[in-house]
Amino acid sequence: MEETNPVVLLTGDTWHIVEYSRRSKVALCGQRVGDGRAHTRLKQVGVENICRNCAKLWQTEKG
Ligand SMILES: [Zn+2]
Repeated sequence: MEETNPVVLLTGDTWHIVEYSRRSKVALCGQRVGDGRAHTRLKQVGVENICRNCAKLWQTEKG
């Protein structure tokens, strides 16, 4: 896993970070992402454009 550039999944209008690529059913913030309409990498989207809860948790995890 590339911790500096995790996979993000589009759910509704919001990108959420997932820890296990497209197989994840729950985002980092707890949002269900079962539908996974699109996926890419965080750096393609920009951390400022993703779910704020995911961004906060991810930055906390990084240390
Ligand atoms: Zn989220």
